[in-house]
Amino acid sequence: MKHVIHFSIIFLVFFKITFAQSSTKYRLIIHGGAGQIVKGSMSIDEEAAYRSKLKEALMKGNEILKSGGSSLDAVIAAINVLEDSPLFNAGKGAVFNSKGKNELDAAIMDGNTLKAGAVAGVHHIKNPINLARLVMDKSPHVMMVGDGAEEFAVEQGMQLVPEEYFFSKNRYEQYLRVKEKEKKDTLKNINQNDKGSIDSKFGTVGAVALDKAGNLAAGTSTGGMTNKKYGRIGDSPIIGAGTYANDKTCAVSATGYGEFFIRNVAAYDISALVEYKKISLKDAAVEVIFNKLLPQGGTGGIIAIDKDGNFTMPFSTEGMFRGYILEDGSWRVEMYKDN
Ligand code: ASP
Repeated sequence: MKHVIHFSIIFLVFFKITFAQSSTKYRLIIHGGAGQIVKGSMSIDEEAAYRSKLKEALMKGNEILKSGGSSLDAVIAAINVLEDSPLFNAGKGAVFNSKGKNELDAAIMDGNTLKAGAVAGVHHIKNPINLARLVMDKSPHVMMVGDGAEEFAVEQGMQLVPEEYFFSKNRYEQYLRVKEKEKKDTLKNINQNDKGSIDSKFGTVGAVALDKAGNLAAGTSTGGMTNKKYGRIGDSPIIGAGTYANDKTCAVSATGYGEFFIRNVAAYDISALVEYKKISLKDAAVEVIFNKLLPQGGTGGIIAIDKDGNFTMPFSTEGMFRGYILEDGSWRVEMYKDN
């Protein structure tokens, strides 16, 4: 009898663990920037290249989640794939500022501890999201900029890369085109009425994830906006503007016209709506992207996931590179507006 009871307990514990694991949600959502991404604007090969990089980022991050790794590690792994590709405006493919230089920003946030790390205006960091992680893990601070951030990177054993690492012909030509166009524009024109020009400057990357332990994380990495003034910092590295995570609510990564996301504290606003108004993540995101930012001229989009694994990817631009992978292995990559 004693044996039977023991066996039953062992069986129940085993069944519970197995059942709990197989029903645990873990998910990764990524974006590769919002903007003037319309059908027909890319060649078939270009489109395939974007799809394959986004898929690679999803798979890398998912490997980590699947093996029980943290949402933080998954977010970083996915972002590293996109940072190392010249296709996206982050890391290798970062856009040029008005002085023809690359100034990169990134942030990471841990929804479990509410710890965060961010870097801005760095010139020699191959993977700014990794430096943001070091700021979070190895310093008492949240945000470091410019030379100081790079000095800290070296202290932490990170190798700097020469500025030429970020040079790409496509990006440089894009910069010259935007520069020329902006010379003709008055400041007044750089608003909602000039979506074409603004849209062409986007391309940031970001990821949000929920891991098996139920923890959320968000990360964003960018070269900012083409032809931005030297020293300009966008929303991506600003906690609450372009990046935010809180296990109680959701994890958010934004892309778009950063100044508007900063002024409206967009990522935190979505979290606050979920927390205080108790509305769904989807409704909160729509409220901020379409009802708040868009009427002001702040185009762009976000990816977000909540503590229950619900996720959303709304954007007010023509398109947004985006994708998700779920715990059952199903995945999807998209770039244009849904029908
Ligand atoms: N949000 C970024 C910034 O303003 C740009 C982007 O999303 O592409 O720096």
